Amino acid sequence: MFDFDRFASMSEQIKEALVGLKSDNLQSIIDQADRDSHFPAEVIQYIHQSGVMAVNSPQSFGGMGAGHAGLVILLSEIAQHSPATAQILCMHLCAMPFICRQASSEAQTALVREILSEGKICAFPMSEPGTGNKLWHMSSFGVREGDAISFNAVKSIVTSAGVADYYIVAVRDGELASSNELVLSLVPATTPGIEAKKAMDSLGMRGSSSAPMTFNIKGLSSDYIFGDPEASFAMLMAYSYPPYMLGLAAVYYGIARRCYDIACDHVQKRRFSDNNLTLSEHETVQAKIAHMRFQLSSLSAWLQRTAQVCDEVEQFLDHARQNGQFFDVISQSDDEQFIDLVGLKVVASQTAEALAVQALDLCGGQAYCRGHAVERFLRDAFAGRLQGPANATSEVLAGKLILGLGLPWEQDGA
Ligand SMILES: Cc1cc2nc3c(=O)[nH]c(=O)nc-3n(C[C@H](O)[C@H](O)[C@H](O)COP(=O)(O)OP(=O)(O)OC[C@H]3O[C@@H](n4cnc5c(N)ncnc54)[C@H](O)[C@@H]3O)c2cc1C
Repeated sequence: MFDFDRFASMSEQIKEALVGLKSDNLQSIIDQADRDSHFPAEVIQYIHQSGVMAVNSPQSFGGMGAGHAGLVILLSEIAQHSPATAQILCMHLCAMPFICRQASSEAQTALVREILSEGKICAFPMSEPGTGNKLWHMSSFGVREGDAISFNAVKSIVTSAGVADYYIVAVRDGELASSNELVLSLVPATTPGIEAKKAMDSLGMRGSSSAPMTFNIKGLSSDYIFGDPEASFAMLMAYSYPPYMLGLAAVYYGIARRCYDIACDHVQKRRFSDNNLTLSEHETVQAKIAHMRFQLSSLSAWLQRTAQVCDEVEQFLDHARQNGQFFDVISQSDDEQFIDLVGLKVVASQTAEALAVQALDLCGGQAYCRGHAVERFLRDAFAGRLQGPANATSEVLAGKLILGLGLPWEQDGA
């Protein structure tokens, strides 16, 4: 059963902790980050200091242990103020459950604790120019030298490029390795051989410091290699894929929610001098607002239900790992959860686009100008359809599963 009381009280706690995001100071930093395409370090620092940044990390590592439900609340709340900041945290937070569970030595455990307690940011460079939005297929590979690893990897777009404290870089385990034999390293930003290009001059998500990166890493110590390549792909699918897809969906829900709030506020305030009526007194406007609300409510229900399922599955997988049954359980994983997750990301990004356009329609000319929140949310909304797996690819993946055709990575080389 979905625990509505726990969800409501967690939601209150997180919203209260983040109330400062509405302050003029942080709002002007958010606007500036969008104008100049730079990383909003002060906003990240504020979120860390508010005590909710380690929302989905286990309590044993000093996290909040609030799981996928907490992740959804946090990211959707932040996205209502700054989608780009929420995008930064989405990439960081989808890495943490994987990293926590793969930490296998005292040094690695201490490193993860330090990241969480000091509010350090992890970036997650997966996509490569060759394979694009098919995040599951890496062209780059590592070369083992004893316990250490060297690799040359080109990553096409990395959120927090050049500003993250750590990069979780995935490469295949050798030139001949299949696409699901991956080595994952937590590469400190200070490691020689890391280069970030200038932040992209993009349409939206401009404050996420997203850019291409190259990693020419020589002899990275095994202290930074997290997990066993035999298990890494399955562990990624178990612990990073759900918070990644849910996290993206929460970011786009946040955009949709804020556009709805702005539209409701505007139509009540806008009064015409010829008939002395507000926009909200027109029935077509009332119907439009209701239509926005219905779209939002169905997305919200899907988000909450999927977050609950992901929390239950994660607990089940943790239990299976403790009993040495992880691979038996993951090989029989539920297609429904996968279909729900890809579908949710598609529908969330479509809803964000649709509600941003509807808010633009209702708010009129002022919302078409730079500096108006709807103008920024409209631009930010369009990143969702492209983020890997792109919406078109997500539909292909879900369609394959629905029709019993299996997933591409189950047939290596796809
Ligand atoms: C703001 C932003 C931040 C990002 N941050 C990160 C990050 O931190 N880490 C990371 O790893 N990546 C990140 N990415 C990259 C992203 O996840 C995608 O991998 C990337 O945008 C893919 O780009 P591409 O042009 O190579 O896509 P391509 O793979 O060339 O796809 C282009 C288009 O072709 C269509 N298409 C592709 N394949 C199929 C198919 N099989 N069937 C039907 N249609 C298809 C889709 O419409 C798709 O949008 C980010 C992207 C953005 C926009």
